[in-house]
Amino acid sequence: MTTEFDLVVIGAGSGGVRAARMAASHGASVAIIEERFFGGTCVNVGCVPKKLFSYGSHFPQEFALAEDYGYTVKGWEFDWPTLRDNKSREISRLNGIYQRILNQAGVTIFEGHGQVLGGGKVSVGETVLTARHILVAVGGKPFVPDLPGREHVRISDDLFYLDTLPKRVAVVGGGYIATEFAGILHGLGCQVTQVYRGALFLRGFDQDIREFIAEQMKEQGVTLKFNADVASVEAINGEKHVNYQGGEQAVFDEVFYATGRIPKLDDLFAEGAAPAMTEGGAIKVDDGFATSVEGLYALGDVIDRVQLTPVALAEGMWLAAQLYGEHKPEAAMDYHNIATAVFSHPNIGTVGLTEEQALARVPAVRVYKSAFRPMRYTLGDKQERSLIKLIVDDATDKVLGLHMAGEDSAEITQGFAVAIKMGATKADFDATVGIHPTAAEELVTLRQAVLVTA
Ligand code: FAD
Ligand code: NDP
Repeated sequence: MTTEFDLVVIGAGSGGVRAARMAASHGASVAIIEERFFGGTCVNVGCVPKKLFSYGSHFPQEFALAEDYGYTVKGWEFDWPTLRDNKSREISRLNGIYQRILNQAGVTIFEGHGQVLGGGKVSVGETVLTARHILVAVGGKPFVPDLPGREHVRISDDLFYLDTLPKRVAVVGGGYIATEFAGILHGLGCQVTQVYRGALFLRGFDQDIREFIAEQMKEQGVTLKFNADVASVEAINGEKHVNYQGGEQAVFDEVFYATGRIPKLDDLFAEGAAPAMTEGGAIKVDDGFATSVEGLYALGDVIDRVQLTPVALAEGMWLAAQLYGEHKPEAAMDYHNIATAVFSHPNIGTVGLTEEQALARVPAVRVYKSAFRPMRYTLGDKQERSLIKLIVDDATDKVLGLHMAGEDSAEITQGFAVAIKMGATKADFDATVGIHPTAAEELVTLRQAVLVTA
């Protein structure tokens, strides 16, 4: 077997698989090394199983809603092992697909731990591979702060394989994962307390959306404990005792930490082979994903840009085209107006600037806003609402940001993201005839600004 390649990729996750496949399609000889699971975080312990659990956790509210439509839904029960194991079966299927895709693309697969040795060499077990280009796409891992009792807490990976579903759960963190997990676990029937160190979770999202989601979650019965720092966790008689700074205590069956993710650099570089790092401990790269070491590249969650699967995919495609493509990219990868969703209950969809960011960057801003109760809920007493918001540059009429919280927000935002990426103006939105009756039509019928700054 050959051990000499044009490109050796370490990590068969979102970014690595895409870069390897695309490089091979451009005619490069490519090897990929994976130590844990094909498809990486997203497929195995991230986006995909999370979304499946999110679907699963919506059924109780759907059953309740069905009654408003005349159905009698009697005696339903939920069996956690069925959901968990069906999910795991689907993930195994996807693992196989990822391996097949790589094989079909002509990429040589090595299973094991990859280590960059320097001088264009990478080891995997006893085998040493040489390559003109080496790509590090090893992703990240959960970060749990150093606190007494750290060994008693669980991380996001664990949730996907729990033996039993705990009754009382604390989810520590106020970002994507904690908020999504809080919604999923609550939907599946757990008593959930989301613990966040600041005054309001989802820092970086639009303020109105953050407040709205907090209200909706409280309405559903999730306990939101803000301005709370965990001092320690103790395990006593099978229960987890959380001691907050200030002396307060609370008892849970499980405590999940979702306090960010850090680059997975464990034993990745042999002595003297590591490139320059950022202050935050990520691999430092330039506009072309080149590290400080000649021929060594990095992308995805291991660099300090945007930790999202579609971003890692786009970076992988960009690099493959840059290194081996017939047509090189004309510009550096564009990180503007990347749409994103939090699969909280209800969902958040967002693209572009928040109101706060726009006010800081643009002299005059118009803000349009509407909150409404989705039609689907109007036959009963379900009170969940949706909030939509457009942020417009008053001088150019360009829509700078679109934010939505509520049913189907993620799906709706994806479509509108195209318009915003193309530079749509508020007049373009107004000129678009809506589809009735939908929630999305609200975005093209916003007429009266709720805020106009001069
Ligand atoms: P990864 O996908 O993490 O792949 C890295 C691969 O490298 C892994 O397979 C790992 O085993 C392997 N590896 C590491 N070190 C070595 C080594 N030394 N040798 C060999 N192999 C190695 N993003 C979204 O866009 N939407 C979502 O809904 C979403 N949900 C998420 C939910 C959760 C719970 C989590 C944790 C993440 C979620 N993300 C989501 C983020 C997304 O999963 C990541 O941004 C994405 O997977 C990053 O891709 P990557 O290629 O950089 O790394
Ligand atoms: P995030 O960065 O989104 O959130 C981390 C949270 O933990 C923040 O609320 C932060 O607080 C808090 N935190 C950080 N350090 C501490 C500490 N020492 N003690 C207490 N709280 C702390 O990270 P996640 O782990 O939620 O997710 C990682 C990334 O994965 C996301 O940023 C996102 O890019 C990606 N992801 C995407 C998803 C999607 O697209 N739907 C879903 C899940 C993950 P503060 O705000 O105060 O700093």
